Order: sequence, then structure tokens, then C-alpha cells
Amino acid sequence: MALIVQKYGGTSVGDIDRIKNVARRVARTKDAGHDVVVVVSAMAGETDRLINLAKSLADLPDEREMDLLMSSGERVSAALLAIALKAMGYKARSFTGRQAGFITDDAHTKARIKRIEAEPILESLKRGEIPIVAGFQGIAEETGDVTTLGRGGSDTTAVALAAAIKADVCEIYTDVPGVFTADPRIVPEAKKLDKVCFEEMLEMASLGAKVLQVRSVEIGMKYNVPIHVRSSLSDEEGTMIVPFEKDMEEVLVSAVAHDKNQARVTVVGVPDRPGIAAAIFKPVAEANINVDMIVQNVSHEGLTDVSFTVAKTELLKAVKVIEDVVKKIGAKGYTTEEKIAKVSIVGVGMRSHPGVAAKMFETLAKEGINILMISTSEIKISCVIEEKYTELAVRALHEAFIG
Ligand code: ASP
Ligand code: MG
Repeated sequence: MALIVQKYGGTSVGDIDRIKNVARRVARTKDAGHDVVVVVSAMAGETDRLINLAKSLADLPDEREMDLLMSSGERVSAALLAIALKAMGYKARSFTGRQAGFITDDAHTKARIKRIEAEPILESLKRGEIPIVAGFQGIAEETGDVTTLGRGGSDTTAVALAAAIKADVCEIYTDVPGVFTADPRIVPEAKKLDKVCFEEMLEMASLGAKVLQVRSVEIGMKYNVPIHVRSSLSDEEGTMIVPFEKDMEEVLVSAVAHDKNQARVTVVGVPDRPGIAAAIFKPVAEANINVDMIVQNVSHEGLTDVSFTVAKTELLKAVKVIEDVVKKIGAKGYTTEEKIAKVSIVGVGMRSHPGVAAKMFETLAKEGINILMISTSEIKISCVIEEKYTELAVRALHEAFIG
């Protein structure tokens, strides 16, 4: 008998038939003698629908109110699944984030979990119930306000809960059979990976592979929670996310990732003196905006340009901050660019093989794709390119490195 956390994503609970399908899967796990805790996402498209409702009222809707609004999607799914299971004769009980003990900080719309007071879930299990937890949400410790964990945050709910209750495995059910070497909609030859190590998955998730939220992988790695990404529509084994194994280094590049949710801000004519980078990026950080790449150009006559990338979805927020910064530091102005994307190759094998970056640049050059920005780590290389070349770049890189 095992203790299993099963997380079902938006498409897996996308309509009533799908919810019945999930109920049957959960019931099967319970019938097999396992203890099972379920985490659900909002029904497919629901979070976007709620966001759009808010955006029709304000360009930058108040984030506290956004959290209460968005958290409702997951509650609907949790309640419906509990109703379905009860109708099948099973003992089930739905929980909001607060009821399940998710205590977070107060960074609205991207709160971080501080701790999980999971007793209510453990007690529910003891009573022989199937606890069903609304993903993506918690409660701010200081204010008692509802918070959400960032887009894709139900993954993090699931993995963090699995860590807290020491589950044997966290199964992430989605509409694809696992983690692929590239997005199969772009690269039909992309292959499902049987195994990926946490380090690679972490890079892939931060580089745009949407199958898992970054934070969930960090938590899985920290607490050693085996994560199994698989389809809710078949019994096929998916991809296991596991600690690094030596033979994984034999593969040079494990996957090609891409991210179109990228925008670039350039602060133009910045006086080149000590303290300027801090003057730009401190207020950006204080506004809770994640900056990805940063490039500072060579200065001419004491002036330079500083470019950085943020998520497209945060551009408006970033621009607000930068308008102030420009005035404060006496820069000439700023420009923004939304039609960019990031393509990346990831693999622990890169650590021990030189020449990978050169081959990547060559591959892009052969397709006539200009590289706008570059960043590297031990196990990944990313290039920012014009958005319209994304698919071409992903295909060419997959062909060159994976085949
Ligand atoms: N419903 C939320 C979202 O779309 C959280 C999740 O699905 O994981 O981002
Ligand atoms: Mg997701």
C-alpha cells in the first residue's frame, strides 16, 4: 500500500465527462488499496476567463482581488470531483488551500508556500476519505488573505503536499503522455523521455516547458519527491523526474525548450557609473517582477544601454517601474519589444562536452536566424530570437542535437 498524491490539470478536469474519468481513476487507485490525496486545477480555460473578466475592468487589476477571484476556479473543480466520487459511493472531502493548511507569504499572484499544516489532510485519510485539495492557492500568514501560487501553481500544491505528508510519489496527470524532447506540436519527431533528472527538469520548466511549474520541481528536488508526469487519458507510463544518475551524462542535449512569453525592455542612454544597475533593478525586484536576462552594452561618451527580459505578462508592470527609474537616473528613455522568444537546449551532458554553444549558434545561423541575447548555465544555453522564428529554431535545434 502506498501513499499517492495525484494532481489533475485543467484539461483533465475540463468538462463533466473528464471529471467523471478522473473520479474513476482516483477510485481505481483507492480500490487497489492505496491512500490517495488529489489536487486539482481549475477547469481548462477557467483561470484565463477569470483574468480576462478582471482585465475588462482595469488594465492592472488589484492583485489581492485577483487572488480571491482566481482561487475560485480550483474550488469549483475540487467540489465537483468530491461530488462525483461521493455519487460513486466513495468517501471524499474537498478542501480549499486554507483548509488544507497552505500558509504562504503575501506576494499576491505569485505567493510562496511557507509551510503546510497538513493535519486536516492526514486526519481525512485516517477516516478513510479521499481528500481533494483545490490547487494553486493558500492563505497569507500575516493578512489572512487568499493568495495564489503563480500560473501553473497546482503542480506546486501537489508536490509540496506530497513532501509534507511524505507521499511515495506525486503523479502529475496532464493531457500529454509525459515530458518530451521538444513540443510535439512543433516537432512531430519529438520523443517522450522515460526519465529526466531534477536539474534538467528545473531548467526545462524555467525555459518554457509548461508541463511543470518551476517551483514544483525545486520542491521535488529539495525534498526528494519522485514526480511522475503522465496522461490522465491512458494507462501508459509517463516520465519520471528523479535524482541525477551518472549515465544521464552520456546524452549531450536532452531537450529543446522554447518560450514565447518573453519581452525585452531597453533603458536607453543610461549614465555609466557605479550604482546604476542597482538603481534600475532594485525597484524592479521590489515590484516582484522576475528579470531573466540582462545585457549592458559598451558605453560611448559615458552613456550606455541596458536591456533585460521579463515575461510578456509582466511587461506592463515593468514599464510602470521603468518610467520612474528613467527619470530618477537621468536616462534618455526606454523602449520595449514584445515580438521575441527564447529557445534553449538543455542537458546535463553539456557539463562534460565542449563546443555545444558553437554548434547551437551555427545551427541558428544556417537558418538565417539572428541571435539577440544569449545566456548560459552549466547545463543549458538560451538564445533570444525574433518570435516569428521560434518554430523554425526549435525544429532546427532538435534536428541538430536530438535527431
Ligand atoms: N489554474 C491555474 C493556472 O491556470 C493553476 C494551475 O492550473 O496549475 O495557472
Ligand atoms: Mg499546468
